Amino acid sequence: MKKIYFYFLILFCFLFFACCVTTFVVYSGNSFITNSLEYDFSNIDYSWPLPKHYAISSAFGFRISPTTGASTYHSGIDIPAPEKTPIYSVADGIVTYLDFEGANGYTLKIENGSMLFSYSHIAPDFLVNIGDSVTKNQEIAQVGPKYISPILGNPYTDSTGNQTNGATTGCHLHLSVKIDDKAIDPLTLFR
Ligand SMILES: [Zn+2]
Repeated sequence: MKKIYFYFLILFCFLFFACCVTTFVVYSGNSFITNSLEYDFSNIDYSWPLPKHYAISSAFGFRISPTTGASTYHSGIDIPAPEKTPIYSVADGIVTYLDFEGANGYTLKIENGSMLFSYSHIAPDFLVNIGDSVTKNQEIAQVGPKYISPILGNPYTDSTGNQTNGATTGCHLHLSVKIDDKAIDPLTLFR
């Protein structure tokens, strides 16, 4: 009889180990940091990108895709705001990307050391250029329209047939923050 318990113990250990490995593979495969607290963000000063707009329509992490082409693992936060609302830089940095980026629509990226801030679904009338140094609180872009003038190869449209500013259902800023190419919950910076 005792041998049976021993086998159960072995089986339990094996299943526990398998669960741990699976969890690790799932998380590392997604390149997401699950515990942002292991990083020290205090060396940089941050400010909220959309003053007077604090609602989050879609949080960071797993979600049900709101529209075709939008991700089920949300790599940032969505902050709804009317078209042309000014967007202010969260931190100092250098503009490294400014273009239409598929599901993200018109996107602006600003780097500060190992940190990368992405502002997506912005207006196509860019306010800065690649290589520009920007400072915290500087107006760097505006919230973009839902619909954009047709772009060759943009697969994103809605029921009207018009091209949308990436995979989006309405005007909002998608803010994502990466450290060493891994996405963190942007809200971590504003606590
Ligand atoms: Zn988003």
